[in-house]
Amino acid sequence: MKNIDNYDFTGKRALVRVDFNVPLNEKMEVTDDTRIRAALPTIEKIIAGGGMPVLMSHLGRPKDAYEEKFSLKHVVPRLSLLLNRTVKFAPDCIGAETVSLSKTLQTGDILLLENLRFHAEEKKGDEKFAGMLAELGDVYVNDAFGTAHRAHASTTIVAKFFPEEKMFGYLIEKELRNLDKVLVRPEKPFVAIMGGAKVSDKILIIENLLNRVDHLIIGGGMVYTFIKARGGKIGNSLVEEDKLDLATSLVRKAEEKGVTLHLPVDNIVADRFSNDADTKVCPADEVPDGWMGLDIGSETINRLKRVILGAKTLLWNGPMGVFEMEKFQNGTREIALAVAEATSKGAFSLVGGGDSVAALNKYNLKDQVSFVSTGGGAMLEYMEGKELPGIKAIRRSS
Ligand code: AMP
Repeated sequence: MKNIDNYDFTGKRALVRVDFNVPLNEKMEVTDDTRIRAALPTIEKIIAGGGMPVLMSHLGRPKDAYEEKFSLKHVVPRLSLLLNRTVKFAPDCIGAETVSLSKTLQTGDILLLENLRFHAEEKKGDEKFAGMLAELGDVYVNDAFGTAHRAHASTTIVAKFFPEEKMFGYLIEKELRNLDKVLVRPEKPFVAIMGGAKVSDKILIIENLLNRVDHLIIGGGMVYTFIKARGGKIGNSLVEEDKLDLATSLVRKAEEKGVTLHLPVDNIVADRFSNDADTKVCPADEVPDGWMGLDIGSETINRLKRVILGAKTLLWNGPMGVFEMEKFQNGTREIALAVAEATSKGAFSLVGGGDSVAALNKYNLKDQVSFVSTGGGAMLEYMEGKELPGIKAIRRSS
């Protein structure tokens, strides 16, 4: 398969789907350029190989028409600065003028297209619109993992017009390599740590993981649906009454598949959902009436640490408690520290999902895990075992 390292870009216009969906302030200045920086290796590789990058992205949520505040022209100054080159800008992402602009590009030139989502056809995955985008490149490179789960024109459909000349950029390659290390070729023991508020959001991931992991740790608000399903007392803790049977069947599946399931044995309970609440420790299945479980307790932490430190592969998604509040953040912090310690002893650790990444940042541990996925929804769908349309479009010839 062609890839960004072995492809000869000499004299070619490379149509690259990037993710420049960056925050802007009221002066229309980029306030966080992480996503632009992340795309630089792919852009620089194309230029170094003698190609001309034609960059396309969405920005914000425009209502299918031009809106000044969502114009990608605001990104041009920062991109020019980071690349130390002049970046040309096309005021529309399709049309005759843009095509001719793309054809005047010289080696080393870069063209950024206006926001794809100014056209409703982008999100609809319109084939004609994708064909118009395809006129702007001789080769197609997808480097936007965060939108790879959407069958949009620029992320998926456009690939049809490049049956041979299509590939991933470095960012997607890296995400897939790391996700596959966990999902396809995990070194054993493989321990998955799932937290967060609701079991309903994580059912498909848990089901997929049960085929792969040796230990499954469950924490966060979703714990109480499992505990109630087993007949425990959960007081006012978060529960999804309509998912009790599902929780029972997940427990049964774990047993059938020989997966050790770890639910908390003790927890920190509060009399209100507030950092000022009165708190106490109690067994996780004996939450008194009027109280709610908001973090895992120290006995649970000690048990989980032993499991985590024995792992060779770790996947962590979702906090163990309401870590945004000082009183209920200890469990999440201790688990984050244990993941970092296991990593320092040679385990491969992948952390993904908005809140677990936020937790890592909070405790300054981002550099102490093996890989932090920034894929958001795309990563979650990949973990559910789904084939993402944007990935399939490159891997399969059409
Ligand atoms: P999610 O987006 O599903 O990963 O959930 C993350 C959210 O779950 C965070 O905002 C946490 O505050 C919340 N959370 C974690 N543990 C609990 C709990 N025991 N009760 C209520 N909310 C929780």
